[in-house]
Amino acid sequence: AMAAMYQAKRAGGHFVLHEARTEPLDPQMLSLTAELRSAIDRDELLLFLQPIVTADTRRLVGAECLVRWQHPRRGLLPPGEFVPRAERSGLIVPLSDWVMREALTIAANLRACGQDLRLSVNVSRRALTEPGFADLMTRYLAERAIPADRLMLELTEQTLMSDEPAGRAVMGQLQAAGVGVAIDDFGTGHSQLAYLKSLPVAQIKIDKSFVSDVTTSSTDFAIVRALVELAHALDIQVVAEGIEQETQAQALAGIGCDLLQGYLIGRPMPVDAFRAWIEQPAQ
Ligand code: C2E
Ligand code: CA
Ligand code: CA
Ligand code: CA
Repeated sequence: AMAAMYQAKRAGGHFVLHEARTEPLDPQMLSLTAELRSAIDRDELLLFLQPIVTADTRRLVGAECLVRWQHPRRGLLPPGEFVPRAERSGLIVPLSDWVMREALTIAANLRACGQDLRLSVNVSRRALTEPGFADLMTRYLAERAIPADRLMLELTEQTLMSDEPAGRAVMGQLQAAGVGVAIDDFGTGHSQLAYLKSLPVAQIKIDKSFVSDVTTSSTDFAIVRALVELAHALDIQVVAEGIEQETQAQALAGIGCDLLQGYLIGRPMPVDAFRAWIEQPAQ
């Protein structure tokens, strides 16, 4: 605790004092939050890509961008270690901006190599409802000559529910611009299925907690099957995420899931590894 305290002091400056207002009792958190601010400028963040394939022929159609922090002392940090803190401190806005520009730059580079993939990017509520968000997306796409339908924004049910009018307005703008919206971790929130018919949703991502039990639990199997049927009736594409076993992939393809994502298909990986993965004969 003393070491953490010392680090917090060393991180120093008015940032720490400023952040202290949100989380006054956790110096470790203060330190990391202060460091994250400069990490964005110092180019310590990176995006991993995880492949998304069609369920029937396992053809590569897209990838989800997942942020990592290459911390100078702590090593490679998963998003769980810093994204929630960034959300609480407001740093999520510059962080999301970095993620978006980086993802679209990667998309442009892949396109230049003949890979026409749809990249999915996770967006927090705070970033989504930042004024001018949809216009900024349109600008970033145009600057890189990427068609809007090559971008999919992943929002959670909580994001959709927590600030409905604001979220709804942005989603309408995004839809008008041609950007797709996916509902992430589908089935884990307080699902109000009614919003599916009133919001412009292109995709739902069935959470891995359902996927992992789909071959062993007849209840989960029935739930997923019903969700797929509902989604398809509303013209919404279904992605099953967290697929680790071949039996799961087959069950989900059998139920009619459109796309698959998970360690079985490919782990999240740095861009170079992702490019190498694309070249594999197996792929
Ligand atoms: P998520 O959006 O639900 O992302 C899927 C998570 O499941 C990723 O964890 C991924 O590595 C992991 N995963 C993928 N396939 C499998 C599998 O077969 N088995 C298992 N057990 N796990 C699998 P990761 O990369 O640690 O990301 C965690 C969460 O952090 C994400 O959950 C997302 O909510 C958030 N996140 C990641 N990148 C960003 C970002 O750029 N912005 C924001 N706002 N949030 C992000
Ligand atoms: Ca970089
Ligand atoms: Ca996601
Ligand atoms: Ca998810």
